[in-house]
Amino acid sequence: MHNFTYHAPTTTPTALTLATRPGTRYIAGGTDLLNLMKDGVQRHDQLIDINRLPLHDIHTTPHRIRLGALATMATVAAHPQTGTLIPLLPQTLLAGASPQIRNMATIGGNLLQRTRCWYFRDDTMPCNKRQPGTGCAALQGHNRWHAIIGGSDHCIAVHPSDLAVTLTALNATIHTQHTTGPRTIPIRDFYRPPGNTPHLETTLRHGELITAVDVPVTGMTGRYLKLRDRATFEFAVVSVAALIRTNSGIVREASLAFGGIAPIPWRSTQAEQALIGRRLDDTTITAAGRALVASATPQEHNAFKIPLVQRALTSALEGMR
Ligand code: SF4
Repeated sequence: MHNFTYHAPTTTPTALTLATRPGTRYIAGGTDLLNLMKDGVQRHDQLIDINRLPLHDIHTTPHRIRLGALATMATVAAHPQTGTLIPLLPQTLLAGASPQIRNMATIGGNLLQRTRCWYFRDDTMPCNKRQPGTGCAALQGHNRWHAIIGGSDHCIAVHPSDLAVTLTALNATIHTQHTTGPRTIPIRDFYRPPGNTPHLETTLRHGELITAVDVPVTGMTGRYLKLRDRATFEFAVVSVAALIRTNSGIVREASLAFGGIAPIPWRSTQAEQALIGRRLDDTTITAAGRALVASATPQEHNAFKIPLVQRALTSALEGMR
């Protein structure tokens, strides 16, 4: 592993100042970062351990839950008010990772985890995300796990986070701190599509620290459905976070986000529009599934994701009728 200097600041201003140096990286649970460093995929000169910063708390009001960036997946999943106010959150968190990982992995780190594209994680292979300008081995390679929508000629990797999918459906906002001041970023503006710069995955600036995530309490009926290759713990082949509000049998509001199909958590306003104002019957659900994949461009090995994600959406919506 590349040698690095370790810092363990106890205040946020100190951490932010340390992070202005080149070659620095924050570390919290380390469940993804340490593997990437051991495999030589990421090399950092300085690690800033943020576990001593006061960012662990969960605050609830009747209208929103504020998750500290250092709250662990396990803590949030077990939090009694979280489960009562937004049942979709524990549902999603318990579908992600093993119990051991959930005990260590933090909310902020979960949002920043890197893709599971096997070419990205093999530093002998060309990969524009790991090393800009080297090419994309997945385009002509084994691309069963890759994107069917939203990719580019430079990268077709999918985003791995379950939580990010659900937070996208919930219209969460991300709070950050930087030496220049705080920022609030709607999650729809947080992830960057790959375009010709797939190594830039979020709109965070160098040294900018996620401090908390606000999740609105919507009162909508929700379901997170994740389809994966094995039932114990595994990343999503496809997933859906679905939220609807009905009145007199008619869908009045819908929010749909998908995982495993795109480089960013994929919100489908087209599928939402196919639901709104209609009865949640088979015809409406089929129309939403068609709208979802209308612009899909599958790769050689992953056309199966088109009917699979449609069936996942169907199953999630049928469970809410
Ligand atoms: Fe790299 Fe993206 Fe291509 Fe995977 S899909 S090899 S992450 S550029």
